[in-house]
Amino acid sequence: METFPWSATRARTFQECRRKYYYRYHLAPLGRRPDAPPEACVAHRLKDLVGLEAWAGDLVHAVIEHVLNRWRAGRLVTEDEVTAMASRELSRRFRNSFDYWEADPDSFTRRPVLLDVHYYRRDEPVSRERGAAIKETVVRSLQSFMRSELAGRIRTVGRENWRPIDRNAAARVEGDILILVKPDFAFVEGDRLYIVDWKTGKPDPFWEMVQVTCYAFYAQEKWGYALPRIVPQVVHLYPEFRDGEAAYTEESIRNVMLFIRESQDELGSLLDTEDLPSVERFPYTDDCGRCRWCAFRGMCEGSCRQEEK
Ligand code: SF4
Repeated sequence: METFPWSATRARTFQECRRKYYYRYHLAPLGRRPDAPPEACVAHRLKDLVGLEAWAGDLVHAVIEHVLNRWRAGRLVTEDEVTAMASRELSRRFRNSFDYWEADPDSFTRRPVLLDVHYYRRDEPVSRERGAAIKETVVRSLQSFMRSELAGRIRTVGRENWRPIDRNAAARVEGDILILVKPDFAFVEGDRLYIVDWKTGKPDPFWEMVQVTCYAFYAQEKWGYALPRIVPQVVHLYPEFRDGEAAYTEESIRNVMLFIRESQDELGSLLDTEDLPSVERFPYTDDCGRCRWCAFRGMCEGSCRQEEK
């Protein structure tokens, strides 16, 4: 049977809606092929659409990465500069997301982060209030980061103690499961290895526990630290800076391993020998709230499907 990498995002998508999982992880990848069926092309087009909050979160990550690169180069950056950079990026990225759909395909060397509203509600501008709220999330998140004790520690330990994260970071657990991870930053302080993820959205203790444990597996394999000497952290930047409360204990590590194994087995059991497993194995969610913001709602006949209001 085909093997495939596991990730918390993949498992979470499956848990939220199996049909969405089918579109995202089975159908959409076929859309890259020259002989792709039309439905796969649509799924491929929709798969990366994001809501405003996730879009703002991505922007915050990009600006923090820029700040870290400046620090790595030994340069200073003030909070005012960071805020100004964020405002410029907000406008530029918003424009790119809007223009992308009608632009010459060669005018974008990389696909911009695409806002859901620019695909589904192209003629309806984002309200002034919503725009202001998004900007406030971005600015406050960046201020939280710049003023945080964590940022101070990152600078104090110095770049010689920073550890680069692989572009396609992954670790093997239980010998045969490859887990994909996307932490934001890692550094050594004293005899500990810190591996960190910044978040601007709402806390979710269960998935944060899964995430931090996966980060620890990656750090263990990549840098050879024993799990008790790894400090994996989710830190929340909005509405103010605070450490996440995800469990990271011997027991939680065992539970997450078990969860990953069971999840991988369940996902694997739905595969066929064919490219595309039977769609009937992936029912629609009963939770109508999920459909409202689902990137695939334009192609999905799910009974819960609702139009955005
Ligand atoms: S629109 Fe609803 S049922 Fe369809 S894939 Fe999305 S979440 Fe699932």
